[in-house]
Amino acid sequence: MDKEKVRKSFQLLLEGLGVDLENTHYKNTAERSANAWVDELCSGLGEKKFSLTTFPVAQHYEPSMVVLQHIPVRSVCAHHLLPFFGEATVAYIPDDRLCGLSKLSRIVDYFSRRPQVQEELTSDIANFLCEQLSPQGAGVIVKATHMCMAMRGVSHDGVMTTSSLKGTFLSEGTVRAEFMALANTLSLNKL
Ligand SMILES: [Zn+2]
Repeated sequence: MDKEKVRKSFQLLLEGLGVDLENTHYKNTAERSANAWVDELCSGLGEKKFSLTTFPVAQHYEPSMVVLQHIPVRSVCAHHLLPFFGEATVAYIPDDRLCGLSKLSRIVDYFSRRPQVQEELTSDIANFLCEQLSPQGAGVIVKATHMCMAMRGVSHDGVMTTSSLKGTFLSEGTVRAEFMALANTLSLNKL
């Protein structure tokens, strides 16, 4: 990423908007914004794709669904560069490898920190999980409110839900039903 280019573009944005650049509040806005976009909002773009540390499942273990809920999602939409935010549920049924639960959060965070559309974020998370763990199946649900819908256009802050199902989550009705039931207990109170 080119932070200087990002800084200049924020400066140009402020000029284009015609705000009073003499006002003390704008003094370091371009630089502050560039730091926020490059180092935080879009840090996933600059980060190398990581590998999950995985563990073999014990022989006596009968694989069952592993689910992590209420994973915060904070991202930026590719169409308007405005934030969208909400929560994800990530689940999988292991085949012969497990990963640490916190890693499921880590995956969501890594893929969230870049401009994108929610549909692709959801499938990127599911694909990555499948690539790294080769599970029997995996499922991801993301529920988010989009500021590009809340602050412009229709000005409604509805919640958009997207899902991505893989393996047995797709092919077996009972697995899918178990996952959906769990994901629907998702609370959006913290939005
Ligand atoms: Zn948008």
